[in-house]
Amino acid sequence: MDFRLTDDQEQFRSMLRTFVDKEIVPVAREWEQAGRYPTEIVEQMKQLGLFGLMIPEEYGGAAADFTSFTLMFEEIARGWMGVAGILGSHSLSCWMIARHGTDEQKRRYLPDLATGKRRTGIALTEPDAGTDLQGIRTTAVRDGDEYVVNGAKMWITNARYADPLPVLVKTDRTTTPAHKGMSVLLIDANTPGFRVTKDIPKLGYKGTESCEVVFEDVRVPVGNLLGGSEGRGMQQVLSALEVGRLNIAGRSLGIAQRAYDEALAYSRERQAFGKPIADFQAIQIRLAETATQLQAARLMTYWSATALDRGERSDLQTGMAKLFSSEIALQAAQESMRIHGGYGYSAEFEIERLYRDSILMTIGEGTSDIMRTVIAKSLVAGKGKVGW
Ligand SMILES: Cc1cc2nc3c(=O)[nH]c(=O)nc-3n(C[C@H](O)[C@H](O)[C@H](O)COP(=O)(O)OP(=O)(O)OC[C@H]3O[C@@H](n4cnc5c(N)ncnc54)[C@H](O)[C@@H]3O)c2cc1C
Repeated sequence: MDFRLTDDQEQFRSMLRTFVDKEIVPVAREWEQAGRYPTEIVEQMKQLGLFGLMIPEEYGGAAADFTSFTLMFEEIARGWMGVAGILGSHSLSCWMIARHGTDEQKRRYLPDLATGKRRTGIALTEPDAGTDLQGIRTTAVRDGDEYVVNGAKMWITNARYADPLPVLVKTDRTTTPAHKGMSVLLIDANTPGFRVTKDIPKLGYKGTESCEVVFEDVRVPVGNLLGGSEGRGMQQVLSALEVGRLNIAGRSLGIAQRAYDEALAYSRERQAFGKPIADFQAIQIRLAETATQLQAARLMTYWSATALDRGERSDLQTGMAKLFSSEIALQAAQESMRIHGGYGYSAEFEIERLYRDSILMTIGEGTSDIMRTVIAKSLVAGKGKVGW
């Protein structure tokens, strides 16, 4: 076993670190609090090729490995998790189109998605169905060479920039089980009847928008059915969500690392009873615990990345990485906040944003309890085992 990154991965991380420290860290607090969209950062991420990381080289992407993918989310979330959100659902949908799209769909969309000229997201959740995706109500009814789509989606990250937006729909409402009647349609942004109706106000994850989206008699060409066959939508989405879990695990590491870095620096500076608070054993225990948990989460996440690189179905590994890393991010933010004392509660310190952002890691792409059920299902079905 060798836990070192390859030279290419080291170089990639070093490039990202410099970019994040120079371009994101200095503006994150001010821009986040002002509710400002990080347009300039997005432009630089395009120049760095980050939008094409998961796209095959033949379509202009970098065809990167999943450890590099994790490093991207880890480093960017260390600066500002909201910015990582701009790359998150974009990357997983690019991967889904590359994996499941027809040749024509790949040629039509992937080259522009690789440069960031086009961007994307993913629309699964609805007002009445999140975890239970088989309960969605958005329908697509075939009419000649088109589908007519009606319904609504909720919490859609990147909705205002997504073109196309992959949307999970029911193409057949009568099938049992319901997932056999579900498909993904790639809906172009300017299609009449497709409207982004609202930006949902939220606790954190600012910088990127999370929206309500409505479809009213939206006519979508049959050529935009992902993969060209009806009934494959749930399977396509579930495979993309494995990649999504890894992205959340990576973001969680970034939040936890920054929370720890801030706590360590603060504890060395802050004086109480005539000495730095870092000299008190109670503070040292919190630092040691956070650092240990963080490193364990990191190793587990890179381990799950290598399973995806081998092309294996990795529900167990990515589920464990997402569950553990997101809970560690929340815990690290809380511990860091305690170490900061009253200043931790101040919006003038970074930890306040990290705390707000950490909570989403335990919800998005499946809650922690759902990760536990995903892990348990793999174990019980004998599809994964604990050990090497
Ligand atoms: C900021 C933000 C951004 C998001 N971005 C996107 C996006 O871009 N695209 C998208 O499609 N979605 C997005 N989501 C939606 C997100 O994926 C869902 O919120 C999440 O999957 C949970 O679904 P839900 O909110 O409907 O909760 P519910 O499914 O209603 O769950 C509520 C509670 O019930 C529990 N529960 C549900 N079913 C079970 C079960 N079988 N067993 C045990 N417990 C259960 C859950 O764990 C949870 O505690 C986003 C959400 C947020 C907050």
